[in-house]
Parts: sequence; structure tokens; C-alpha cells
Amino acid sequence: MKVAVYAGSFDPVTKGHLDIINRSSKLFDKLIVAVLNNSNKNYWFNLEERKEMIAKCVATNIKNIEIKSFNGLLVNFMHENDSEVLVRGLRAVSDYEYELQLALTNSVLADKPIETIFLTASRENLYLSASIVKDIALNNGRLEEFLHEKIIPDVKEKTKLILKK
Ligand code: ADP
Repeated sequence: MKVAVYAGSFDPVTKGHLDIINRSSKLFDKLIVAVLNNSNKNYWFNLEERKEMIAKCVATNIKNIEIKSFNGLLVNFMHENDSEVLVRGLRAVSDYEYELQLALTNSVLADKPIETIFLTASRENLYLSASIVKDIALNNGRLEEFLHEKIIPDVKEKTKLILKK
């Protein structure tokens, strides 16, 4: 059974992430969406909220997906979950250097061989990032193009709380 891992912060999950989840789930028997919980990072949404938003978006249409969380080294999480393939999404050239660093570092750290594979972002998601979505939300812009409709209320709610602070 080929198990792949797609890891990220998903703060919040965007249509760009969902596109990678959708496409990569067709390439493997199982796809684990691994939500990073790094205590040094300032997230808008806590871990449970981020996992729940992903679940809302994928629940009905994709069956071979598991949503989990991890902290610490991604390679250890992959070993524990019997996965040898890490999926990443590549947007513009600016992603490349960081992704190369990550892929090479992971292959050095891994006790068992792991491969990183890259899926190119779809044209409509090429310049989409979770941080841009948060900026748009803070400025009361339209979110429909960037986020799954099921999580737009969650993002609007959180935006209100953040603006109140
Ligand atoms: P990170 O904290 O690693 O930046 P992200 O959740 O932002 O986590 O991204 C996780 C993965 O999703 C990365 O491989 C990133 O390149 C990819 N990704 C992010 N946005 C998009 C997008 N719009 N289209 C395709 N892939 C994307």
C-alpha cells in the first residue's frame, strides 16, 4: 500500500491546498494530510480548528484521506506512518529554493529513504497563499475564489475576533 503525506500549516486550508490534496489522493492508496503544530508559530486557527476545516472541505468527496497532526520532525512522522513519499505543491519560482532545501534536508534526516514529489499548482492557484487569504479577510474582501464555501464562515468569524483584539 502506497501511503503519501502532504504536510503544511493549513492556516487556513485554501483552494490551492485542496487542489493538491484532490490530485495527490488519486495517485496513492492513502494520503495523510499532516497538519503541522509548531509551538513557535503564531497561527490564526488552533490545531483542532485547522484539522476540522480540512475535514469539512474533503469529507464528502474523497475517501482515502486521513487528517492527522504532527510536531517535531516530519521524517519521524512519515516513518511512524509507513510513508515513503512526501507531496509538496510548487507555485512560482519563489517556492523552489525553500522546497529544495526542505527535500534535501529531509532525505538526509530520514532513517529510511523518502522521496519528495512536487505537483505544480494549478494556474488559478499559482499566486494563492494562506497569508494572502488572511490579508483579504482582514480587509473584508471576497473569499469565494480562494476558500471552500464550507469554511468561509469560520474564517469570517475568526477575522472578527482578530480585529477586536
Ligand atoms: P508551510 O507552512 O509549509 O508553508 P503551507 O500550508 O503554506 O505550509 O503549504 C503546504 C504545502 O502546500 C506546500 O508544499 C506549499 O507549497 C503548498 N501550497 C500552498 N499554497 C498552494 C497553492 N496555492 N497551490 C499549490 N500548492 C500550494
